Amino acid sequence: MTDTPYVVDQMISAKSIAARIEALAREIRAEFKDTDQLVVVGLLRGSFVFIADLVRELGEMSVEVDFLEASSYGMGMESSREVRILKDLRSGIEGRDVLVVEDIVDTGHTLHHVTGLLKSRLPHKLKTIALLDKPTRREVDFKADWTGFEIPDEFVVGYGIDYAQRNRNLPFIGKVRFIQEG
Ligand code: 5GP
Ligand code: MG
Repeated sequence: MTDTPYVVDQMISAKSIAARIEALAREIRAEFKDTDQLVVVGLLRGSFVFIADLVRELGEMSVEVDFLEASSYGMGMESSREVRILKDLRSGIEGRDVLVVEDIVDTGHTLHHVTGLLKSRLPHKLKTIALLDKPTRREVDFKADWTGFEIPDEFVVGYGIDYAQRNRNLPFIGKVRFIQEG
């Protein structure tokens, strides 16, 4: 499958992403205007470009950046998916204001699990932001507090998001289209 040739068709331009992040950052600054120091938690690895652009739009706000890596894997049936924490936060978040940054909400299992875990550590406030949302794919009830773009059920890459570890460095979001040879 990874050897099948494909092209990436642009779906969301770099310019649209930048404009959307500017608007989202304004809302986030308003939400956390009384926060002493916000803990921005990026979910590795897909969110690394998004988090880099987002924190630079937060302007004067004092932010701490931390990362968490979760992996989900099928246990036979998709709907019984388990989520494992591969890399945990460095910082404690008890009593802190936390913003979790994800690339895509798909089935919802990852953010459902991660927010459950982080809530058990008793943060003062916990909010979530996802660049992309595929609402038609949802298996568990989860909605991010902020979403960049709703997209259809297509496999996307770029802007930090990979296909077999490639295409993370594309500046736009595109969808993978397999092509026939010959
Ligand atoms: P879920 O919400 O199903 O638990 O998982 C979300 C994760 O699935 C995302 O963080 C991302 O890693 C992965 N994912 C979902 N849709 C796509 C996609 O279109 N492309 C890529 N590369 N990963 C995706
Ligand atoms: Mg991910």
